[in-house]
Amino acid sequence: MTVAENLTQIQKNIKQACDKAGRNPEDITIIGVTKYVTIERALEAVQSGIRHVGENRLEGLLEKHQNIGEQAIWHFIGTLQSRKVKDVIHMIDYIHSLDRKSLAKEINKRTDKPVDCFVQVNVSGEESKHGLQPENIETFIDMLRNYPNIRVVGLMTMAPHLDDENVLRDIFRSLHKLKSNIQDKRWTHAPCQYLSMGMSNDYQTAIEEGATHIRIGSSLVGPYEEQG
Ligand SMILES: *Cc1c(COP(=O)(O)O)cnc(C)c1O
Repeated sequence: MTVAENLTQIQKNIKQACDKAGRNPEDITIIGVTKYVTIERALEAVQSGIRHVGENRLEGLLEKHQNIGEQAIWHFIGTLQSRKVKDVIHMIDYIHSLDRKSLAKEINKRTDKPVDCFVQVNVSGEESKHGLQPENIETFIDMLRNYPNIRVVGLMTMAPHLDDENVLRDIFRSLHKLKSNIQDKRWTHAPCQYLSMGMSNDYQTAIEEGATHIRIGSSLVGPYEEQG
């Protein structure tokens, strides 16, 4: 399948989910996750109309950014080690994985203009997942006002791989509620208007529950060989 063919199918599914939820497809941003694919395939995605690109590792980001550059808006979606911040900060437009004070401090220090960040939340409570516990979110985001170069534009979560749609739905719904609570505070450093949730296998449910940013890898740029 070409990326364009995959994208057409995804857009149909987005439309369907939006119709169900009374939402406008224009309010959904597709982030094309290119972490498993070649530069050529990533370029194909951009040429097919993907404007937002996501990478989860420094190496992948460097490689893709070098070849695609300003044609895309760049999202860093993976765990970010503090010592690597200085290498990526000038390339990325959004960070989806802000989950600790030390990282906020480092980001704040390495840039001179505000960076749009999503705070990562571990809604499902799985030990293997990164992110803050839901009960710590408000205190954490409140504290971020001490770092003028951090702007909290939303919350992000990675749902577990589950077939039970109701459990997934509960996870997405919880994140939506958390996000609304923060948004209602009208903190200037944390407008928190976005929800980054939903991947290839669950983005329709995520959209029904309010996702504004869906992060799509395999359904968009696959199929590819599983790595590692
Ligand atoms: C890989 C990845 C995705 C995309 O996953 P697919 O299931 O291939 O769509 C989304 N978000 C994060 C954080 C990822 O690491």
